[in-house]
Amino acid sequence: MEPESSAAGRLGCPKRMVFGPCGGVREDERCELAEHRCVFLDAPLVRWPGAAPDPPVRSGLLARAAEAPVVLTDLSVPAFDTAAVRRVVGVLGPVSDGLLLGEHANRPDFPPTMLAAEALAAGARLWTTLACRDRNRVVLEQELAGLAALGVDGVLCVTGDGRGPGVRPGASQVFDLDGVRLAALAAGRGLQVAVPESPEAPPRALRPARVAEKQRAGAQLCVLNHVSSPARVASFVAAARDAGATLPFVAGSPSTPTSAPPACCSAFPACTSTTTSSSGSSPRPTRGRPASPPRSRRPERCSPSPASSGSTCRAWPPTGARTTAHGSRPRWPSD
Ligand code: SF4
Repeated sequence: MEPESSAAGRLGCPKRMVFGPCGGVREDERCELAEHRCVFLDAPLVRWPGAAPDPPVRSGLLARAAEAPVVLTDLSVPAFDTAAVRRVVGVLGPVSDGLLLGEHANRPDFPPTMLAAEALAAGARLWTTLACRDRNRVVLEQELAGLAALGVDGVLCVTGDGRGPGVRPGASQVFDLDGVRLAALAAGRGLQVAVPESPEAPPRALRPARVAEKQRAGAQLCVLNHVSSPARVASFVAAARDAGATLPFVAGSPSTPTSAPPACCSAFPACTSTTTSSSGSSPRPTRGRPASPPRSRRPERCSPSPASSGSTCRAWPPTGARTTAHGSRPRWPSD
């Protein structure tokens, strides 16, 4: 199915999503951007109407994930700083199977293709996040074409978090497409596609099947938001498998080499910190919280912390772990 930018979003959704809900639904079921109840909470889930496209041959991270657990590390760097991109790639690239270039609602940066070119030149095996918030469909197509020409490993297709009150109030939030339609667009351009999902966000019962629908739209990898425990990851993945999802999952895991996790971790739902960087070893949880905080309390950035690295965990059912690097803002890849 070709994702039409003219497709009517569901009435009441500020992001004009067709294939909602996004990952920003608040704990009390209110919309991420408005005070009313999210309009996608009730069954039935919106199904992807087309047949799954023929996926490109798996390469890079996806090929490795078919063989063994992998580590995908957030590549978060200061904005408008290409030297920092090269420097951080030099640190994290050699200890990761792939690097994930992020996108921030409150912090503009160079265009994704430009950052990707810098990271690739520095030797990164790169996945680039592309969000629909600030780009109309034409610009999304341009970025996808550019990323394909550059030879990135893949693209993480997200709808994008809405900007908070007071953040660039004069700039419109575009949302021509949502993350699912962007995934289809990227897959149609021959790119390997990752999508996010937020197991802890309402409506929890619908979200596993949502992964299967995203796969039918073209996704080949699912990057999970932080969840309350490894057991919760396992139950979510099992439910997604029951719903028909066969793609590999990457579990979010803030990681620090110290026993004290960064201050930002306290604001995540039961996020765990690992005290090892040995591939294949199990993370030792050091801190947890049982419930997701209100969105307004989510951290804008990490406190300064020691350089961090991550490890895959063979005890977990996903095929990979995603780590949040030193100095970065742990992201919520809202879809
Ligand atoms: S929470 Fe997200 S999907 Fe639900 S109505 Fe708001 S913007 Fe739309």
